[in-house]
Amino acid sequence: VPTYKLVVIGGGTGGLAVSSTLSKILGQNEIAIIEPSDVHYYQPLWTFVGAGVKTLADSAKPTEELIPKDAYWIKNKVAKVQPDNKLIELTDGQKIGYDYLVVATGLECHWDKIRGLPETLGKDGVTSNYSTDTVETTWKFIREFKGGNAIFTMPSTPIKCPGAAIKVAYLAEDTFTKNRVRNKSNVIYNSAMGKIFSIDKYAKSLERVAKERGIEVNLGTELKEIRSQQKEAVFNCKGTEKVFNYDLLHVTPPMGPPSFIGESGLGNKQGYVDVDKYTLQHVKYPNIFSLGDSSSAPTSKTAAAISVQSGVLKKNLLDTMTGIFDPHTAAKYDGYASCPLLVGRDKLILAEFSGYTSLPLETFPIDQGQERSFMYWLTKEVIPEIYWNGLLKGTWTGPQRFRNFFSYLP
Ligand code: FAD
Repeated sequence: VPTYKLVVIGGGTGGLAVSSTLSKILGQNEIAIIEPSDVHYYQPLWTFVGAGVKTLADSAKPTEELIPKDAYWIKNKVAKVQPDNKLIELTDGQKIGYDYLVVATGLECHWDKIRGLPETLGKDGVTSNYSTDTVETTWKFIREFKGGNAIFTMPSTPIKCPGAAIKVAYLAEDTFTKNRVRNKSNVIYNSAMGKIFSIDKYAKSLERVAKERGIEVNLGTELKEIRSQQKEAVFNCKGTEKVFNYDLLHVTPPMGPPSFIGESGLGNKQGYVDVDKYTLQHVKYPNIFSLGDSSSAPTSKTAAAISVQSGVLKKNLLDTMTGIFDPHTAAKYDGYASCPLLVGRDKLILAEFSGYTSLPLETFPIDQGQERSFMYWLTKEVIPEIYWNGLLKGTWTGPQRFRNFFSYLP
């Protein structure tokens, strides 16, 4: 069985962020990355793609270009891990051994959990920014919208970037106004959650903007079924069925971690890799770590969170390898996450917070609860560069240095 010092499952944001520097430190072919996809997507750009500001191609790069040169790419999919034997089974039956393991497999979209959705998606006004097949269709439907009900949904499961479900509603409303169809449109945000955003400071800002722009917000309202013939969307609203007619329906589907995690005995109750939320080390297997959307760290599932997690994970994993890891003095993840809340085509509220304290953890010495065009520009032009050239190369481990610098200013 081919065996590596370190195997990283998943060559997405988290997997590449940790492999890039670790492969340099550990040396050639000591790390294997198991990743089935030929194309890597910078998913945060999809909000801009759905608004016609960027193209899907802008968000994509070949995986081959991104795999660190000292790492070995196994283009395959994991079926199961045997943590007690330090063995991985691939879907084609091959086996791979490891001394240390990082799991970074992200979230899967469960389209089939909404009745009628798989067969309707991408047609007759039903779309989603969460699929490469339909993110460009979102812009087509928004651009061609002639009026009626435009409905945007948010499920009850954790999702990638919780703000993305509502950003698309603000951007659509902005376009309807520009296209002079706003006065014959109802813009409706139906969320299964009890709050518009989990952090109060930004929730207040989002509520204010929704009010100013006449966006109807219905909380505790979860999409269950689409009846495409009648153009009806069926919601469960606190136990009662509520039917909405739609002309445009943007669905953020329920999501969950890949099932092999739970089936391999690595998951918590919800199936996320069960790690200590501070050290990111597995609660049962000290040679296993996890970061990103498939880890159990209870914070918003964002690339921004991965930046800080990657620094913590690399330090603690290397210390474990050299036998000096001590949970008391270990590097600790503070729950940092960030969500650029686009509320229009040139306005953005840059939410930065800790998912562990539910308090803001902002970088800039200005009120980040306010929408600003500077933040829009930063998110559209600068953060993608940081992603490709900093985060994926392992050199960007979050904005703490900038936050500290600004906090010293008078
Ligand atoms: P991913 O990057 O999804 O990578 C997981 C990888 O694991 C994939 O490449 C997959 O092929 C691989 N994999 C899965 N199963 C297996 C298996 N069995 N075997 C081997 N490999 C496997 N974040 C922000 O910070 N800011 C934003 O504004 C933002 N906006 C977003 C908007 C949208 C529409 C979306 C979809 C996401 C957004 N995000 C945002 C979230 C961000 O993209 C994710 O949090 C981040 O990419 C997660 O990284 P990850 O490594 O955990 O998972």
